Amino acid sequence: MQGESKKPKKILIVGGGTAGWMAANLLMSRWNNVEVCLLESSGVGTVGVGEGTTPHLKLFFDALGVSESEWMPRCNATYKNGIYFSDWSFVPGHKEYFHPFPAQVDDLTVPMFFHNIKARMQGDEAQAHPDHYFLESYLTQNNLGPLAAECFPFSVGYGYHFDSELLGQFLAERAIAKGLVRLNGTVTEVVLDSDGALASVRLDDDSLLDADFFIDCSGFRSLLLQGALKVSFKSYKENLFNDAAVVLPTEISDVITPATRSTALSNGWAWKIPLTNRYGNGYVYSSDYISAEQAETELRQHLNIPDADVTARHLTMKVGRAEKHWEKNCLAVGLSQGFIEPLEATALALTFDTVMLFMRHYEDGHFTNKFEREFNDAINVKFEAVRDYIVCHYKANQRVDTEYWRDNAANTNLSERLGAILNLWAGSETFAQDMRAQNLDVGYQAKSWACLLAGYGAFPRQRSNKAQARASSQADMEQLADFIRRCGLNFRDHNELLAHMLSE
Ligand SMILES: Cc1cc2nc3c(=O)[nH]c(=O)nc-3n(C[C@H](O)[C@H](O)[C@H](O)COP(=O)(O)OP(=O)(O)OC[C@H]3O[C@@H](n4cnc5c(N)ncnc54)[C@H](O)[C@@H]3O)c2cc1C
Repeated sequence: MQGESKKPKKILIVGGGTAGWMAANLLMSRWNNVEVCLLESSGVGTVGVGEGTTPHLKLFFDALGVSESEWMPRCNATYKNGIYFSDWSFVPGHKEYFHPFPAQVDDLTVPMFFHNIKARMQGDEAQAHPDHYFLESYLTQNNLGPLAAECFPFSVGYGYHFDSELLGQFLAERAIAKGLVRLNGTVTEVVLDSDGALASVRLDDDSLLDADFFIDCSGFRSLLLQGALKVSFKSYKENLFNDAAVVLPTEISDVITPATRSTALSNGWAWKIPLTNRYGNGYVYSSDYISAEQAETELRQHLNIPDADVTARHLTMKVGRAEKHWEKNCLAVGLSQGFIEPLEATALALTFDTVMLFMRHYEDGHFTNKFEREFNDAINVKFEAVRDYIVCHYKANQRVDTEYWRDNAANTNLSERLGAILNLWAGSETFAQDMRAQNLDVGYQAKSWACLLAGYGAFPRQRSNKAQARASSQADMEQLADFIRRCGLNFRDHNELLAHMLSE
């Protein structure tokens, strides 16, 4: 590799949460001859939540060459076909919808979805609820996992649910077996060199730890990047109101659905994530509208465990991102670089993308900061794409029952890009094509935006200059359902899949 002589000889990762261990494994699988040390503090602890993922976690394990049967049973993991959104809308027929991950076969079914959306907006009584158009909606309704029979010629995207503490342990063991040096201590001071770059960190026993390059995985504190290097923080508070969460486990049911459930409550939303041994539940809310105590009471009622003897954990969230993620000889990864509330479970995806993109840019610049700006811009685009998509959930919500939901629907702090997407939705007869032509489908494809907006029953009335779109006939809809059902024959029961993996 060119520039090998400039490659850091020693990398210090500060923080042993999921981000720290993911970064350690990725760095060690790609770069040889580098000493990688990871420092964590038994006195500080990890955030300890983050149990749902996007398909990026599969890419992460594929990059490491780790099979599902190696890691999933160790982490009480289950498959995730997508997310149910319940009670986000009071529009009749739209109390709930399922948002699947993208699958190749969507190319054959989604054109009819777009067609019927257009017909619906032009006044026809068309079936435009997303649950009828995606294979993975069918799989989830029938409790089928996302692994297709070998003869099925289309790929299906999926994510996972897992116990984040067990995942950390799994990744730690793996990195240590490959030579990582694990250290325990609390950083009390960060020492800079004469160029203002990081030189070392001082620990509570007064020892100094130096390195050539530092990865800041210290969580919301962001000790190195935002603390020592003073990179500023761009808050998303204006766009996204939620800043706290309360977390409670409950017993798992016999049928383990391959999906996260997100249910809107009075001042935020509650997640329900199935693991093999328990449900992880949490209520994400805005402390401007509801107190921590009220939120806990509401979550307990929602879970039907008002008096259960189970302790809740309360967390606060700093929502936004650092202006830069790579500065001098420091890369921030995970909560230390930023966090967008967990509605789309995107944090580990951003962690994976950050490390992979950084390694590529660092190598391309022969281990100099040549491509630092390009890298930072690219990561910021990813953050903003996720933010816009999540803001759209709140903007498009069709509830009117509390000030929280009314304020969200009335919020005008939308990015230019989100404004353009909503304008297209309201006015364009060729939404998907226009999204692509205007390069607005960065991060989320047009079909995902359509799923979200149609899912909530947001169908602004369009006047057509051309011949009015006609809703697909009953026969067309039956044919579509039959096609999806026949595709579904290639998939296995989710519980069976998990049991089979345990027996391997
Ligand atoms: C309510 C909530 C729900 C979430 N849900 C999801 C989800 O569904 N999906 C998803 O992908 N993500 C989710 N996330 C995000 C996810 O939890 C984090 O991205 C992930 O856990 C990584 O955290 P981290 O490693 O960056 O930080 P942390 O877990 O906070 O780890 C910080 C580390 O830094 C160390 N440290 C801190 N200070 C010092 C010091 N002074 N000296 C030495 N060490 C120090 C600590 O010991 C610890 O090891 C959620 C987050 C929240 C708050």
